[in-house]
Amino acid sequence: MSPQDRHNPKVERHQEETSQGLAWVYQVRCTCGEEFDEYYAKQLAEQDKHRHLGKVAAPPAERCREPKKHRMRPHERCALCAGQLSLF
Ligand SMILES: [Zn+2]
Ligand SMILES: [Zn+2]
Repeated sequence: MSPQDRHNPKVERHQEETSQGLAWVYQVRCTCGEEFDEYYAKQLAEQDKHRHLGKVAAPPAERCREPKKHRMRPHERCALCAGQLSLF
């Protein structure tokens, strides 16, 4: 995985025809191209999202410690923060 790979999984929702009528279906899609199962419960889709983020997260030592300042997401590898380790 290259550091350029960004993961921004989002829960998307659409309506689907079922025998009971229209129902909302939730599905997670990530900017890395991965797609997940469809669920009728949003919670289950949220779980997929967290599982995916957990899987693709950078090693703890390389994660951004100041996501706001560095405009990163907390699970991402941050060159600024990871680089700081070598200064100590
Ligand atoms: Zn992803
Ligand atoms: Zn950082």
